[in-house]
Amino acid sequence: MSKISIVGAGQVGATLALLVLDRKLGNVILVDCVKGLAKGKALDMMQAGALLGFQNSIIGTDDYSEIKESEIVVITAGVPRKPGMSRLDLLKKNSEIVSSVVKEITTFASESIILVVTNPLDVMTYLAYKKSNFKPNRVLGQAGVLDTARMKYLIAQECKVSTREISTMVLGGHGDSMVPIISQTTVSGKPLVEVLSKKAIQRVIEKTRSGGAEIVSLLKTGSAYYAPATATVTMLEAMGKDTNALLPASAYLDGEYGLKDIYVGVPVRLCKEGVKEVVEISLTDKEKEALHKSAAIYRKSIKSIGV
Ligand code: NAD
Repeated sequence: MSKISIVGAGQVGATLALLVLDRKLGNVILVDCVKGLAKGKALDMMQAGALLGFQNSIIGTDDYSEIKESEIVVITAGVPRKPGMSRLDLLKKNSEIVSSVVKEITTFASESIILVVTNPLDVMTYLAYKKSNFKPNRVLGQAGVLDTARMKYLIAQECKVSTREISTMVLGGHGDSMVPIISQTTVSGKPLVEVLSKKAIQRVIEKTRSGGAEIVSLLKTGSAYYAPATATVTMLEAMGKDTNALLPASAYLDGEYGLKDIYVGVPVRLCKEGVKEVVEISLTDKEKEALHKSAAIYRKSIKSIGV
């Protein structure tokens, strides 16, 4: 059975661990720097296993040597933005955390695939790539699967159909600069532009963009984790089962979409080696321009932390 390590036993990490166990994707190592936290959550999940019926195991620990020989290591470790903390302060703090986690990964799981979840996602993924020195196909980030799920849900609400009838993709950066690919979006096989008015489409885009912020303001503390963890397990499943599924992910670009040496959300085919290929779908000029704008924003952030 494969070995999947998850660093960060907070809301996203712990929810993801239970999903991995429940879907029987592998044995899990859950790591957190807070003593006892991962161990306590792992014990709780093993007891849930007696009811859910999974036979795979989970170990919770603060000792990174446990991650040795993991096929995949997911990074969810990070701090949330606190009052008075600027975006740059957050960027610097999470850069320190991700850099220290990547150091442990290169020490104990040098053959693994790194899947980054920590925000700001595309910058943290680039950082993990640079610090690990892994081949780019073995370092990727989760954001697009979540943003796409959010958009599917909102289109389904507008059209009063099942989310299963919607085919769409959100590319670009995770956050304000996301790029919903409206030109390729269909509802029950029909182009979205024929199904919804321009105004309704704009409403869907705005709501997708602010989907995370809306949840933050309702929760008061913390941010979304059920959909983020489910999006992450979707990627783990595609890699673990070697399905070649086409999913949006933050991936390294080496000329694809006219971009070089940057991580940004694009459609990729996932297999047991990580990213099998970046797939270039046809975009309108406006969508291409938005993707480039998104990449330019991340280049600035990467520069600001001196990577
Ligand atoms: P959380 O605060 O609940 O959990 C973070 C955990 O990381 C904590 O348990 C903390 O102790 C741990 N941690 C901090 N530093 C560590 C270190 N050096 N080593 C090991 N563990 C460490 O946060 P969360 O809600 O689980 O979110 C985690 C991250 O995921 C955040 O950066 C959040 O913004 C991001 N996120 C990303 C997406 C996405 O789509 N990419 C979606 C939701 C959340």
